[in-house]
Amino acid sequence: MEIEYLGTAAYEGVPAPYCKCRVCRESFRVGGRAMRSRSQALVDGELLIDFNGDTVCHSLRYRIDWDKIGDCLITHSHSDHLCPADLEILSDPISHEHRMLHFYSAQDGYDKISREIEVHRMQNRADVTLVHPGDEFMTSEGTYRVLTLRANHTANTTPVFYAIERGGKRLLYAHDTGVFPEEDYALLKAFGRFDLVSLDCTGCLGIGWDWRDGHMSLKTNLEVMERLKREGITDEKTVFVANHFSHNGGQTYDEMVPEMAKHGIIVAYDGLKIQF
Ligand SMILES: [Zn+2]
Ligand SMILES: [Zn+2]
Ligand SMILES: [Zn+2]
Repeated sequence: MEIEYLGTAAYEGVPAPYCKCRVCRESFRVGGRAMRSRSQALVDGELLIDFNGDTVCHSLRYRIDWDKIGDCLITHSHSDHLCPADLEILSDPISHEHRMLHFYSAQDGYDKISREIEVHRMQNRADVTLVHPGDEFMTSEGTYRVLTLRANHTANTTPVFYAIERGGKRLLYAHDTGVFPEEDYALLKAFGRFDLVSLDCTGCLGIGWDWRDGHMSLKTNLEVMERLKREGITDEKTVFVANHFSHNGGQTYDEMVPEMAKHGIIVAYDGLKIQF
């Protein structure tokens, strides 16, 4: 499998427009990996995770071949993960001759996507499947086995995260979640051992505040990693990646890399591709 990080920031991006905090000023000055668009990922060029307002920008920047993408997992309805207004791009007068795009979302995102499909009469272009925490399903062509997990995040956005399996390889994409709800560990254990785990790290190194609910930082990532290892959900070969960063965490890309490396964690950046 391959994961491509199209965007790696929280809602406001890094540097955040209008913000003149130290992290934003330094990220702007350095450029490169310090510059982050909002979080979205692509698995094997085929399975999209989230559909935010940076989707068009990502499509151009990474030359995304939409002919290969049949499925899109939505984590929750915060606008840095789902931009309903942009779904109209799939509709008939705006794009032509493309394949069906199958969305999967928990209730709030499901309602928003359903409404757009109806309003823009896109029933032959897109559909959406309602998922609940604990649900396991196959994507449209039977390519991926997906497990839906409850996220510790803003409740009215019906937040979930996903475990994804293809050909015996497993990926856990755990963003916009604090320390996992207890119920998730048994589900993950039953799903199988993970090759790559991508953890929410909105709070960066977690200096001053450990970020336990809603989002995580390095401090709480280490707690979750310890528990995953103890349960046999991961092992010494598992690749760990920290992702979904905010300037409010307090560190730039260059400041995080050495600290994260001490714990064997890769710091995600826009455009990062990992094969596993
Ligand atoms: Zn987010
Ligand atoms: Zn800032
Ligand atoms: Zn969120």
